[in-house]
Amino acid sequence: METLKGKTAVVTGSSRSIGRGIAERLAARGALVAVHYATNAAAAQEVVETIGKAGGQAFAFGTELGHEGDAERFWAEFDVQRRAFSDDGDTGVDILVNNAAVALRDHFQDATVADFDRMIAVNIRAPFFIVQHALDRLRDGGRVINISSAVTRLGLPEVIAYGATKGALDSFSRILAKELGSRGITVNVVAPGYVDTDSNADWLRHDKDAWEETAAKSVFGRVGEPEDIGDAVAFLATDAGRWITGQHIDASGGTRM
Ligand code: NDP
Repeated sequence: METLKGKTAVVTGSSRSIGRGIAERLAARGALVAVHYATNAAAAQEVVETIGKAGGQAFAFGTELGHEGDAERFWAEFDVQRRAFSDDGDTGVDILVNNAAVALRDHFQDATVADFDRMIAVNIRAPFFIVQHALDRLRDGGRVINISSAVTRLGLPEVIAYGATKGALDSFSRILAKELGSRGITVNVVAPGYVDTDSNADWLRHDKDAWEETAAKSVFGRVGEPEDIGDAVAFLATDAGRWITGQHIDASGGTRM
């Protein structure tokens, strides 16, 4: 099933959780995967090793997003690690997955400017400029896949500012699909629902009642796993996804339908 052989994929925030699931699924299909992290180099290295043991190819690179100049630093660091991985000098990219985000839980009345600005900077400004600075290296016929959230449909008051940043990402993606269409590059959004990840650990993974309540929100009666999202992304990344662009793919297991 090596449908991505010869392709290079970059997945932001793939040292853990959903990003890891995406990186592993793309690598399983034959892509060379750049595993990006903010600060947790050890976790990223573990993903690289897991992919290697499964017969895939990956390397890690780190850049904290959400600061001025982050997109330039992101690609500069990618170039260094890509060249260290192999001396073919090829720093082109076929598949770019913007997955890294921060979800600070605030009701409207408690929201702060600091939290709001941080989520804007990481969740929408960083992907926007990461793509802008990748226009020359993104190959024609490539893929941009942005990880949004079902919150833009569900309307959860406890994540109002986070939801607003994901709404901005949805809008950006749709317009970008028009912008890049002439080059055969597809741009889509994958929107997970509730997934068992580190970012949900405090209120979900360790609370049996919350777990059961959350599972019941999906028509399948379970909480999502990172691999569920990884497979949806991998499908869009393959040639089978070539005629799908500008779309918002709900990957929430039918949450609150
Ligand atoms: P996690 O918080 O579990 O993992 C975050 C990943 O992103 C890590 O690899 C982390 O790197 C990296 N990261 C975090 N902050 C930054 C930063 N400032 N700069 C660079 N990298 C950063 O996230 P999830 O897996 O839960 O979420 C992944 C995506 O899925 C997000 O876009 C999220 O909004 C979306 N989503 C998640 C849902 C869920 O239920 N979990 C539901 C709907 C959408 P490091 O290891 O170095 O810290």
